[in-house]
Amino acid sequence: MSKDYYKLLGVGKNSTKEEIRKAYKKLAMKFHPDRAPNDKKVEYEEKFKEINEAASILADEKKRQQYDQFGADAFRGGGDSSGHQGYDFSDIMSQFRGGNFGDFGDVFDQLFGSGGGRSRGTRARHGADLAYELTITLEDVAKGKKETLHFNKVEYCDDCKGKGASKFDSCNHCHSSGYVKQTQRTPFGIFQQTAPCPYCHGKGELPQNSCHKCGGDGLVRKEKELEVTIPEGVEDGMRLRVSGEGEVGQNGGPSGDLYVIIHVKPHKFFKRDGGDLHITLPISFSQAVLGDDVDVPTISGKAILKVPAGTNSETILRMKDQGLPFVRYGGKGDQMVKVKIEVPIKLTKKQKDLITQLEEEKPQKSFIKKIFG
Ligand SMILES: [Zn+2]
Ligand SMILES: [Zn+2]
Repeated sequence: MSKDYYKLLGVGKNSTKEEIRKAYKKLAMKFHPDRAPNDKKVEYEEKFKEINEAASILADEKKRQQYDQFGADAFRGGGDSSGHQGYDFSDIMSQFRGGNFGDFGDVFDQLFGSGGGRSRGTRARHGADLAYELTITLEDVAKGKKETLHFNKVEYCDDCKGKGASKFDSCNHCHSSGYVKQTQRTPFGIFQQTAPCPYCHGKGELPQNSCHKCGGDGLVRKEKELEVTIPEGVEDGMRLRVSGEGEVGQNGGPSGDLYVIIHVKPHKFFKRDGGDLHITLPISFSQAVLGDDVDVPTISGKAILKVPAGTNSETILRMKDQGLPFVRYGGKGDQMVKVKIEVPIKLTKKQKDLITQLEEEKPQKSFIKKIFG
């Protein structure tokens, strides 16, 4: 029986180690015995072994070369009738037991030598990150804000202190050390290593009971209250990271982070452009002509704007540093005021007389005279 290892993994003869690794991973996930339908257990296990056999040869440069030259027969004999020569698949199988696919990487590491893998059960897991959507006003942006957030997150169970049980027996399998010595035969040779005890998952003790509150996994969902400071000048869509306030990690892994996603409500009068604020200000005809000191709303209260004499409608006047703080660089933007001259509709008799007097000056006529002589 001569097997085509390349065909088994569905890769070409010139494929790179990385391509082989990927193909192996895909197939190993697919034909994992724990995923087999009940009527196909044997078939899956057989296929899974074949995939591992192929990978154990093709992942090893030297063996791959031998295989390319002599075929699968190069690895037969030596009293090993299984044909899985030089590799102990029961080791791999035992590590896959329990259906913990998240730890698949451990087995790849052994096959493909990226190193650093540990057995399942004790691997420290980073807690999940959380997102909190917070809507604030433009006034909040100007001043900054302290906000108390209420949200649910996974934390350690108080009843069992995250251990999942209140009473423990010491683990006899590993003499409470949490570790066992293992001899591993891999494509890269035989070596001994200490591995987390498969019975107690490296904890050195076994739960006698199961915590009623958390059902034994040591984690519960809790309502949390957290005060955060929203800095001045934040922008719509910005994500503020609150380090370590996400969900708790497992097996001593670090907690996730909380992201506060900022939404800024549009303002009735002010339009934001980065640090600058834009506003339209109605002024009277006489204020435009003669100039005036005008009260103007700003985001942080009232301020006085000097409208110079002879200001045209639509002129934009700048009020320095009356905009929003810049969240990153410090300093402030400006307020840009677009003046709009309001033409009076209802006039008193006196006003009418005055306008009529003004009209007699006829600025248009002198304009026409300038052009046409
Ligand atoms: Zn508990
Ligand atoms: Zn143990």
